[in-house]
Amino acid sequence: MSKGIRIQKNGGIEVLEYVDIVPGELGPHDVRVRNHAVGVNFIDIYFRTGLYPAPSFPTGLGAEGAGVVEAVGEAVTEFKPGDRVAYANAPLGAYADVHVIPESVLVPLPEAIGFDEAAAVMLKGLTVQYLFRRLYALKPGQTILFHAAAGGVGLIACQWAKALGVQLIGTAGSDEKARKAKELGAWETINYSTESIVDRVLALTNGQKCPVVYDSVGQATWEASLDCLQTRGLMVSFGNASGPVTGVNLGVLAAKGSLYVTRPSLKDYVAKREELLSSAAELFDLMQQGKIRVEINQRLPLAEAGKAQQAIESRQTTGATILLPDS
Ligand code: NDP
Repeated sequence: MSKGIRIQKNGGIEVLEYVDIVPGELGPHDVRVRNHAVGVNFIDIYFRTGLYPAPSFPTGLGAEGAGVVEAVGEAVTEFKPGDRVAYANAPLGAYADVHVIPESVLVPLPEAIGFDEAAAVMLKGLTVQYLFRRLYALKPGQTILFHAAAGGVGLIACQWAKALGVQLIGTAGSDEKARKAKELGAWETINYSTESIVDRVLALTNGQKCPVVYDSVGQATWEASLDCLQTRGLMVSFGNASGPVTGVNLGVLAAKGSLYVTRPSLKDYVAKREELLSSAAELFDLMQQGKIRVEINQRLPLAEAGKAQQAIESRQTTGATILLPDS
């Protein structure tokens, strides 16, 4: 028997139940992974609350983890029992000690990278990879605005931007968080609880503003983000931490300078096997060169998944949060 988190319905953290589970049947292309560490991400909260609909109920939660292959389906070609692996885009249910997932979402984990680190970096690091390298190819010397820069995705973004020679202006909800973002590589920071995002961006860029803005906060920052873009700049709206952006009048994009907007999702940037493998290789390489250090600032037992989600939702965390099935 295994243990894991299940929800019967959408709601607050009280709907998370830590229960005995029967791992899914192993299909021909599936791999059973014994998770040593599981990543917690804001998207897990969206699935819990219902902002993103789960395919069915009861459902597991979580898409990210790292561990060891325990068993493989008869048609699996790339993995065998005993292999160290990690994943970021699995079907819901990573909040468990074992997870049965298609081999297509797994990557081999280099010996030099620990399970905790991998579970903390896969989803967030692959996100920064596609945001900075493929959705828009950032160039050295550019100045960008990146919201929630002290969060899980944010602290990786600060370091990746620095490695690329890009000046990242990071927003954060407190001076302490802003300091953290700067320590990890943000060029400048804005405490958006006390300072005007637009005024500070104008001042920091000598009125030039930014070619790209990365906004995962959503509703609360949407308008200010658009005002920080240069003419024909790109607004990357990739999350909803403060609530979703809805009811946009497209005319606003013309009024503010023929802006572009995209609302991307990691799954569409790692859908092809070769994209997943090359993105993960780039991420692991930067980690092994010491250019990206994974900040795991919250570690909790798997049974305390609700506490972990609550901490993220209430803006108490910095860096990554992981759950440990074995503790
Ligand atoms: P974070 O650790 O960044 O936590 C979210 C942060 O958002 C908080 O720490 C907080 O930082 C900030 N925030 C601002 N307003 C609010 C609010 N009202 N409620 C809660 N938080 C708020 O989470 P993750 O690293 O897991 O994810 C970051 C974002 O990136 C999320 O929106 C997520 O959905 C998105 N994402 C999108 C992906 C994609 O492909 N589209 C993939 C991965 C993540 P502060 O206090 O400093 O403001």
